Amino acid sequence: MVATLEIRNLHASVEGDESLILRGVDLTVKQGEIHALMGPNGSGKSTLANVLMGNPAYEVHEGTVLLDGEDVLDMEPDERSRAGLFLAFQYPVAIPGVTVANFLRHAINARMKAEDPDSKGIPIPKFARMMREKMSQLHIDHAFAGRYLNEGFSGGEKKRAEVLQMAVLEPRIAVLDETDSGLDIDALRIVADGVNSLTGPQMGALVITHYQRMLNYIKPDYVHVMYDGRLVESGGPALALELEEKGYEWIREKHLAQLEV
Ligand code: ADP
Ligand code: MG
Repeated sequence: MVATLEIRNLHASVEGDESLILRGVDLTVKQGEIHALMGPNGSGKSTLANVLMGNPAYEVHEGTVLLDGEDVLDMEPDERSRAGLFLAFQYPVAIPGVTVANFLRHAINARMKAEDPDSKGIPIPKFARMMREKMSQLHIDHAFAGRYLNEGFSGGEKKRAEVLQMAVLEPRIAVLDETDSGLDIDALRIVADGVNSLTGPQMGALVITHYQRMLNYIKPDYVHVMYDGRLVESGGPALALELEEKGYEWIREKHLAQLEV
């Protein structure tokens, strides 16, 4: 069965502030599809990512998020992960003394234990083989597995750890919010190459990007534009080119015209 993430009429605000940031978002992402979400600064893209990852700093007022018909908003973050959602920045912190490999093994074991309390976790040789395969697939130097997680990592190395985590957890649908701070071209490429090599029939992705140029590297099947908390424009890859050429101003004008009728 093809996994389907369905966002319907989603309204959300920051916790403790009634003013809505998301004002009725509708979006369906299926396994095997790459969706790019763009839009001007402050339009609500990261708020959508935060709501999807269950960040308690945000409050949902209306609408639903379903994964294969199951209510995602009702799930704890780890349940979301087990259901097959990958939300980048779920584990953003540096963990002193824990290597990338140990962290990933722990993540796999935690998931196995949640499914079966008697599980002894993944056998080390199997895990080592899996890591070698995934790192080769992603062109990551194998020595990276022995580094301490996020300790002194460059922006690019953080992205590498994130993409490797995505590869190991094998999500059905991944949501990646590429925030604008400190991402150089190298880091963008790491994420883009990872998304390109991991997406396919097994994985779908919603790539939220603040950068047009990200779409020089990722080839989305669908492009959406968020404006003022709603998706006001959707199309194919040609829409990204149009945005690159014309910017967002015409979206604003079109949106205002829609509001007037
Ligand atoms: P984008 O990612 O598209 O740039 P955001 O979702 O980050 O947009 O922000 C949308 C609006 O919501 C902005 O006006 C922003 O200031 C506000 N906002 C988002 N998160 C918070 C927060 N945690 N606290 C206060 N305001 C927030
Ligand atoms: Mg943002």
